[in-house]
Amino acid sequence: MNRATAAAVGALLASLAACGDGEMSAVDAGQRPPKGWVDVELSRPGVAPTVAADGPCVVVDQRADVLVHFDELAPGTKLGNGPNEVWIGASRVGAPPLEIRPLGDTVLWVDGAPYRGFLRIEHGDRPRLMNRLPVEDYLLGVVPAEMPEAFGLEALKAQAVAARTYALQTIQNSGRLLADERSQVYEGRRAETLVATRAVKQTAQEVLLGAERDFVPAWYHSTCGGASRPAADVFAGAPPGLMDVVLPCGGCERSPVFRWERRFAADRVCAAAGLPVAALDAVAVEPAEYPAHPKRITITAGGRAATVGADAFRSRLSAGRERAEQALSTLWTEAPWLEGGELVVRGGGWGHGVGMCQYGAAGRARAGADYREILAHYYQGAHLARLP
Ligand SMILES: [Zn+2]
Repeated sequence: MNRATAAAVGALLASLAACGDGEMSAVDAGQRPPKGWVDVELSRPGVAPTVAADGPCVVVDQRADVLVHFDELAPGTKLGNGPNEVWIGASRVGAPPLEIRPLGDTVLWVDGAPYRGFLRIEHGDRPRLMNRLPVEDYLLGVVPAEMPEAFGLEALKAQAVAARTYALQTIQNSGRLLADERSQVYEGRRAETLVATRAVKQTAQEVLLGAERDFVPAWYHSTCGGASRPAADVFAGAPPGLMDVVLPCGGCERSPVFRWERRFAADRVCAAAGLPVAALDAVAVEPAEYPAHPKRITITAGGRAATVGADAFRSRLSAGRERAEQALSTLWTEAPWLEGGELVVRGGGWGHGVGMCQYGAAGRARAGADYREILAHYYQGAHLARLP
């Protein structure tokens, strides 16, 4: 296994993201990465990033003209900015956007972690830092962060194709990716493993295309809990004819979150329903056939009732909580009920439930399926193609 022993597979679930929950505003055409490359935002709002270079590097402007040469950048070198200027440590280097490019074998670091490619500095309240690199290099830091090696090479290859397609489709739409589960988890060089790298290289340039030869939105998630959901139930603008059916999985029963039960105290339930905190009186859900992804839930507390969408209710209940305290999905296996003043929910799976089920992919790989068969099952309506 990569970063964990078998006993830690449960912990790794925390990094098995349900990709595609992110909302991003589009980036101007002139700021977009070159074809086949991606921009991944590494900076966090309100935090000034630090950078380092363990050998020579240069800072270039938009036309790739060299502005400054550094023999190295010490660990913890701060980025700063003012009106129309960027500082790297004590050096004023020019106006954003700028790129720090490594020379020779130099590795660039951000906040103590090593990255391939260039570091792009854009203007913001604090300097905004992007990792700009070829999509194939980006995937080396995504596949092992999104899926444990124990899932098997064919599952990892399916993950590589899904992640490549998702990345290119997102760049085409909005111009950039985020480094966490709002897009896909990306951890740069520190995540890389031999097996995940093999999965990326053995599927180099392979993507999932739709009927118009466009990139499909290759959503995936940890565990579907039995069947994946139609994309249109979750995502606005889901393409017709693609991932539009309830698809039996038959592969994820070994997931530690195939079935779960959670209890939620009245204050959390009231907050998620938008009610003043009060004792819970009643819960009602529609539809009432289980297992099901209910559309709406009505909570009555202190004599007042509120009806909210089940997906919104789930995400409000779960925001900022550890996995053990989250409602992991809206696949509920029976009607939720009140017990001891708490709301009890029994459900299955983890994530939005659209597209590839990662535990299901592992189950299919164990049963002898290759990555093409895994992708064909979960992305019905799409076809596999190699980019020129
Ligand atoms: Zn599944």
